[in-house]
Amino acid sequence: MPSVREQIALELITPSPRTYKQLKPFQFGENTFNDRVMREKLPKDVYKKLIKTIKAGEKLDLSIANSVAHAMKEWAISKGVTHFTHWFQPQTGLTAEKHDSFYEVESDGQIIERFKGDQLVQGEPDASSFPSGGMRATFEARGYTMWDPSSPAFIVEGPNGGGILCIPSVFISYNGEALDKKTPLLRSMDAINRSGLALLKLFGNKTATRVVPTVGTEQEYFLIDKRFFNLRPDLRVAGRTLLGAEPPKGQQLEDHYFGSIKERVLAFMQDAENELYRLGVPAKTRHNEVAPHQFEIAPIFAEMNIGADRNQLIMEVLKRVAARHGLALLLHEKPFKGVNGSGKHNNWSLTDSQGNNLLDPGKTPEENLQFLVFLVSVLKAVNDYGDLLRASIASAGNDHRLGANEAPPAIMSVFLGERLTEILDDIKAGKEIKRTEEFIIDLGISQLPSILRDNTDRNRTSPFAFTGNKFEFRAVGSSASISMPNIFLSAAVADSIDIIIKDIQKELEKGTEFKAAVLSVLRKFIIETERIRFEGNNYSKEWEEEAEKRGLPNIKRTGYALAALIDPKNVAMLERQKVFSRQELEARYHIKLEQYVKTLDIEADTICDMIQTKILPAAVEYQTRLAVAIKETHAVASVSNGLGLEILIDSLNKINATISELHQECQKLKALLNEGLTIKDIEKQARFFADRIVDQIEATRKPADQLETIIPDDLWPLPKYSEMLFML
Ligand code: ADP
Ligand code: MG
Repeated sequence: MPSVREQIALELITPSPRTYKQLKPFQFGENTFNDRVMREKLPKDVYKKLIKTIKAGEKLDLSIANSVAHAMKEWAISKGVTHFTHWFQPQTGLTAEKHDSFYEVESDGQIIERFKGDQLVQGEPDASSFPSGGMRATFEARGYTMWDPSSPAFIVEGPNGGGILCIPSVFISYNGEALDKKTPLLRSMDAINRSGLALLKLFGNKTATRVVPTVGTEQEYFLIDKRFFNLRPDLRVAGRTLLGAEPPKGQQLEDHYFGSIKERVLAFMQDAENELYRLGVPAKTRHNEVAPHQFEIAPIFAEMNIGADRNQLIMEVLKRVAARHGLALLLHEKPFKGVNGSGKHNNWSLTDSQGNNLLDPGKTPEENLQFLVFLVSVLKAVNDYGDLLRASIASAGNDHRLGANEAPPAIMSVFLGERLTEILDDIKAGKEIKRTEEFIIDLGISQLPSILRDNTDRNRTSPFAFTGNKFEFRAVGSSASISMPNIFLSAAVADSIDIIIKDIQKELEKGTEFKAAVLSVLRKFIIETERIRFEGNNYSKEWEEEAEKRGLPNIKRTGYALAALIDPKNVAMLERQKVFSRQELEARYHIKLEQYVKTLDIEADTICDMIQTKILPAAVEYQTRLAVAIKETHAVASVSNGLGLEILIDSLNKINATISELHQECQKLKALLNEGLTIKDIEKQARFFADRIVDQIEATRKPADQLETIIPDDLWPLPKYSEMLFML
């Protein structure tokens, strides 16, 4: 009798012919309340006012709310929608929604469909169960959600037709404190706008009215057959395999990367993309990733808040559609030990209201110089607030990747490429910048564009790489919301710009000519930030040593990395930029610490449980088999010459020893867990978990994984890596 998992494997090896459902024909963005719909459905003056809020970032004129709500409702109902929800991003890293139907009862008892302006603008979820980091005691649970008009409302279709109108919203307390991830993201966009515009003005730009960060994400994920997923409590509960011996054929051959996409996977991708297109998410590229069963999806970039919303949508849609295809989608940073984990490249740049990419060198020496100022501002941001960036990507899951020779290390450094490095080195060396024009020509600044484009030389190991006209922050976790890294990056860059502007102004006051003033300030910060520039292999041991000499932090575990959130220097900068208050940061620090401890607590609990209820019984079964075999072999020893008896006894001894080791490690983990859970101070507790629990989970896993390689296949209770990762 084959075991359940063997039956699944057999079915997957010889799949029955599949029939895929025909995809709906679609119009891009048809499920969003986009510009086309607004123009069509809204009165002209209302449309104009709303566009001002959306495009120019002006405050919403509340008098138009009723009119917009009405149009939105009519549009939604015409598409079969029955419910609406404020769609927001609490600090769980997920999105939250609570559906209300449009139905209301009139005084005469009639039921009508209604959606008023105040319902559009403001909602009041029962927020007591969302993490608030102690900012809002549960007894005064009310926070409220508020419409973010800058991100289009959209419809999520129900499985039975109909659907839900989702209204992107912020989530704040009655005192205006941010309880979510979108509020500070919007604030950081304001910060960049203020500073970026000031810099453009300094360079004589009279036309730009806005500076906006743009973001495009490259999202990695794994797919496995849903039935295998269902058979693994660790995947279900913790999102990653806590047990599992590495397969003989791992990714050593690297034959998966960019390989042809299997039909079942392609069917899923097409279905998911179809849904994303209708939601206005322009999915652009898809391909196989490095590890078996690992894939990537990347949309075309957008303004930062929309980019962030879209990434949440991408993660949600992928999960939902995968389930429809009998697949489990794994977003965890390290679902399989010994197999490359998943990350998310966060591509970030700045654009002005005319659509000019400010990290793209311009056409004139002046524009190129301006480009260099923006570039050096980013260097300064990473130099001054690298610890904050590290904290922004910290999670128990991502700790498995950072520095594990497959992802950039926890050390924050920047890769610029050969040509830019040369230019910065030349500016640094240009002791006296006297004849600026000649100096600029010598540097090659006057002809930057053509040179840089040919030179987007890639260094895949860098956590923060300049790739021609944008920066790519590559250390973000695959399952994480991209908000925090973008908030800190944008705020820090805004702050750097402010400082650089002040310094340039000081130079100008001394009577220095403009370009020379800019160059001399650039020089100062090029020197100051040199330590974070690294062009070599970030995965190497040598870099770790070199980085230590340069005084760059290399904090490997989340329990420690998070402290940057409340570091006085960081708090001061974020307050200065009006992005976070101290209280909001402290709340986030607590929430993150709690999440870290909870994650590890769940992992420890789950692994112990699986060992107790699955692994040990299988091992004992095998033990018994061996004992019986020994007894029977012994009984016939006189006639059979005792053939094989030693081998059997050897096997029995080995399994006995491994079982007892497993038992011991498990007990040790339980004891440590109990000790850890009694620690009251959350900071101390998180550090205890980082120091003791993480490694003990690994130590406990070892003998269990050994058992997997010696226990007969038919007795093994869990789907194996070789099954989960090589059968789609
Ligand atoms: P790769 O890094 O694999 O070469 P691409 O160059 O295609 O991939 O870009 C990856 C992501 O970067 C995409 O989501 C793309 O839209 C985004 N991107 C491109 N330009 C910008 C920009 N100016 N700002 C933000 N993201 C950008
Ligand atoms: Mg990339």
